[in-house]
Amino acid sequence: MSTQPQDTSSASSDARKVSRRTFIGGMAVGAAGAWGLSAGLTRFGTDPARPPQLYEYFLDNFWFKAADLEHQAINPPLKGSHKADIVIIGGGFTGLSSAYHLSRAFPDKKIVLLEGACCGYGASGRNGGFCDAGFSGLLRHVEEVGPQEGRKAFDASLFGIGQIKRMVSEHGVQCDFEENGMLEAAMNQEQAAQLEKHQATYRSMGLDATLLQDRQLQDEVRSPRYVAGLRFPYGAILNPAKLARGMKPVIENAGVEVRERTVVMRVTTGKVHRIETEMGEITAPQLVLGLNGYAPKLGFFRDRVLPLCSYVIATEPLTSTQWDSIGWRHRQGIADMRVLFDYQRPTADGRIVIGGSDAPYFTNDDLSSGNYKPAIKAVTESLFSTFPQLEGLRIEHAWGGTMGFTTDFTPSVGVTGDHKNIFYGVAYNGEGVAFSQTAGRIISELMTGERSALSELFVVNHQMPHLGPASLRIVFERLNKWYLMRSGTKTVR
Ligand SMILES: Cc1cc2nc3c(=O)[nH]c(=O)nc-3n(C[C@H](O)[C@H](O)[C@H](O)COP(=O)(O)OP(=O)(O)OC[C@H]3O[C@@H](n4cnc5c(N)ncnc54)[C@H](O)[C@@H]3O)c2cc1C
Repeated sequence: MSTQPQDTSSASSDARKVSRRTFIGGMAVGAAGAWGLSAGLTRFGTDPARPPQLYEYFLDNFWFKAADLEHQAINPPLKGSHKADIVIIGGGFTGLSSAYHLSRAFPDKKIVLLEGACCGYGASGRNGGFCDAGFSGLLRHVEEVGPQEGRKAFDASLFGIGQIKRMVSEHGVQCDFEENGMLEAAMNQEQAAQLEKHQATYRSMGLDATLLQDRQLQDEVRSPRYVAGLRFPYGAILNPAKLARGMKPVIENAGVEVRERTVVMRVTTGKVHRIETEMGEITAPQLVLGLNGYAPKLGFFRDRVLPLCSYVIATEPLTSTQWDSIGWRHRQGIADMRVLFDYQRPTADGRIVIGGSDAPYFTNDDLSSGNYKPAIKAVTESLFSTFPQLEGLRIEHAWGGTMGFTTDFTPSVGVTGDHKNIFYGVAYNGEGVAFSQTAGRIISELMTGERSALSELFVVNHQMPHLGPASLRIVFERLNKWYLMRSGTKTVR
């Protein structure tokens, strides 16, 4: 059998998450409703050869520049025929973290990580660098199971941030890590009311969360757009490309063979998997998929994981007068509460990196186009609406990346296949910097059979809902976005 899409079929209630759920959920409902219409349509690409358009070549990514990626050694590709005990596909945080934990759990096994470009080239090296405490789907889970059980899940999720801290302190990975907490910002009274609900939920879990308004909010950050904020002391910001590039030598030192520039073209799953790459092939009885938004391109989770794209810009460094004009003295990541929200944070060298405002889906599950101008324009306008004090500030970098989403906004980390030998972590729904680190640990526990609070998390082997017919996704994405923007639901811009 060839590349089969472990259709591991593989499910929060804050305003932001509910509204994002509304957005994507509406898409899926619409798509499912039109299922009959599409009955005669042939699904594209049942047996993908080289994943088409795997990489964009227009990539003006500030994090890569700050990590000096251009001058770093990229490992040679896999050539010829090889055998391994464990093959990991994908050199993002899921793959890197899996490699880290598996190399410790199985010091004698041959572990090979295959990465199509270079470690950190996917979403892991392109994101906003928010290192969230918690993860997508957690707050809804709390509603379902109550604050006590919910707190356990929250605590387990802190593993990811702890793991990054260990990378910094124990392994010397320099990634501009700053544990400054997070701020959720409301742009109207409806959103402010939602923030109050969030505060109540967090407090019911015994977590600290402070509602800021008026003078207190102005002391934190000065934007005419924000009417309230919720300060959450958990979470961090970092340079994600530096983290990914820094994790590569850590896993290599632990004995993992890392092959970069190695595009996997086909996976034939079985008791022993056969993984064909552009220049070679490798077999292994255990496979780990660290592909997230790229997974459908390789034939995995096609009906479950929706690749949505996000776009990010980096300004020139601000002067001290400009920083004074906006405040933001605690340098935490700020995310607003709109359907198509922005996430923004300061950088170590005094810029603002901001992304969001749009989350386009491209036909055929295509990956982000680096120069998708409508999204870059939207996020640029949003920056200056948030901080009109900065009018005239130059935008020096703009880039995009591809994320994996589900209609229930819940990730899935698990094991699948007839032989229960395909491990995966997928669909972090735009909140994967810390949680993909946790996923790597869960994958290791699933392989060793070890049990802990992590392998008991509700995301383990979580059944992701079906997305509806692929051929109609683009139509429903556009219609749903248009409807939400028009109706103004949770959208104030
Ligand atoms: C623009 C943007 C902003 C984001 N902002 C945030 C944020 O601020 N905070 C947050 O928590 N999350 C954020 N996210 C989400 C977060 O980045 C992801 O959830 C996380 O990085 C996923 O990691 P991963 O390792 O699973 O996937 P990826 O990092 O995407 O790694 C997959 C890897 O697989 C490789 N690959 C793909 N196909 C093949 C193939 N055929 N052969 C070989 N290799 C292949 C790719 O090159 C890539 O390196 C953002 C994402 C994007 C795109």
